Amino acid sequence: MTVTYRVSKGCCACGTCIYECPVQAITMKVVGGAEIDEKRCTGCGACYDNCASEAIERIEHQDQEKE
Ligand code: SF4
Ligand code: SF4
Repeated sequence: MTVTYRVSKGCCACGTCIYECPVQAITMKVVGGAEIDEKRCTGCGACYDNCASEAIERIEHQDQEKE
């Protein structure tokens, strides 16, 4: 199973996830809060674990080929 993460509604743009991400996969959009670059994201879950607003969504994908 592969797990990916996505910023959903409720992001208050606090910046914590950007600080916590070890591979700099998260940037702050001008409008709408944080955004995860799925190409960079390693799926470590640090942003998900540390978002106080619970704005990051954890998505489980059943075993499918993924590059
Ligand atoms: S930690 Fe959560 S609320 Fe803060 S910027 Fe990241 S997604 Fe938004
Ligand atoms: S899951 Fe890890 S690598 Fe991916 S965006 Fe969150 S903190 Fe960064």
